[in-house]
Amino acid sequence: MKRRTLLAATAASGLAAMPVASMAQAYPSKPITVVVPFAAGGPTDALARILCQRMGEALGQQLIVENVGGAGGTIGVAKVARATPDGYTIAFTHMGTLAVNIALYKSLPYDSQKDFEPVGLGGTNPMVLVTKKDLPAETFPEFQAYVKANEKKVQYGMAGIGAASHLGGLMLNSMMKVDVLEIPYKGTGPALNDLVSGQFDYMVDQAVNVLPQIKSGNIKALGVSTTKRLSQLPDVPTIDEAGLKGYEVTIWNGFFAPKGTPKDVVAKLNQALVTTLSDDKVKVRLTELAVDLPEGKETTPEALGAQLKASIDKWVPAVRAAGVKPE
Ligand code: ASP
Repeated sequence: MKRRTLLAATAASGLAAMPVASMAQAYPSKPITVVVPFAAGGPTDALARILCQRMGEALGQQLIVENVGGAGGTIGVAKVARATPDGYTIAFTHMGTLAVNIALYKSLPYDSQKDFEPVGLGGTNPMVLVTKKDLPAETFPEFQAYVKANEKKVQYGMAGIGAASHLGGLMLNSMMKVDVLEIPYKGTGPALNDLVSGQFDYMVDQAVNVLPQIKSGNIKALGVSTTKRLSQLPDVPTIDEAGLKGYEVTIWNGFFAPKGTPKDVVAKLNQALVTTLSDDKVKVRLTELAVDLPEGKETTPEALGAQLKASIDKWVPAVRAAGVKPE
């Protein structure tokens, strides 16, 4: 390329010659990739797609969800940790991949607190203990007795080591004092399909994913993971009230950018998220799916950073105490 041509091309693109500050003002000038570290059709994916669509409208650019499942979400999260920190590749992930799995892997391909810029919390989800339709147990105590009596043949599904469904399942099994074979999937979307067709026995998954199948009677709900019942499932007891005192697991999800992403880019993404979270249509849709949405100060990047730290402090010792050996 001759020099004159090069200068002309630079002027035409309008970007290469801009100082960094005005580059951020031009952000976003192209679609943004949002890595969801689990398969399509699961809870992380569902929540990401609802939020990303509205955030894209707010930013005037599409947010494109890319599903990078496997290894309990660590493959997708690692991809974002290594991405160029320009705001065009970010992650939508949860406390499993960033906090819980610190206790479950001998070494992780990223440092949750050093390799990311928190953008904002996307919602906190209760979980539900769901079983295949023909499991011979109609209540939580019956379920517990059945699993104990059939410990060697019962199987539970989860989305890989460190996934939210793994945390829900491992805490349940540890408190029931059973050692059950786990069946790992790339996400609980595909796992749920197999539970509906009776390929394994039970799973603890986020309500946002399982509510529709419970309502259609394709699986049974025997307990919820919160200390209060869910208004969407008023007849389903909490696991705590049904027999496992102290069982409580809720899963927060959030957007994270690679470390070094400019502050004003993070602020723009956060602003789009705040706009989305206050949109009435989004609120109604997510409330129906039992997602608890952050409000006010809970929506800041700092609040997400604090939430991450609190979850590491809470779950790493709890999972270690449950006696699960790191991989
Ligand atoms: N996030 C879910 C889990 O951790 C899986 C998924 O989104 O598919 O179990």
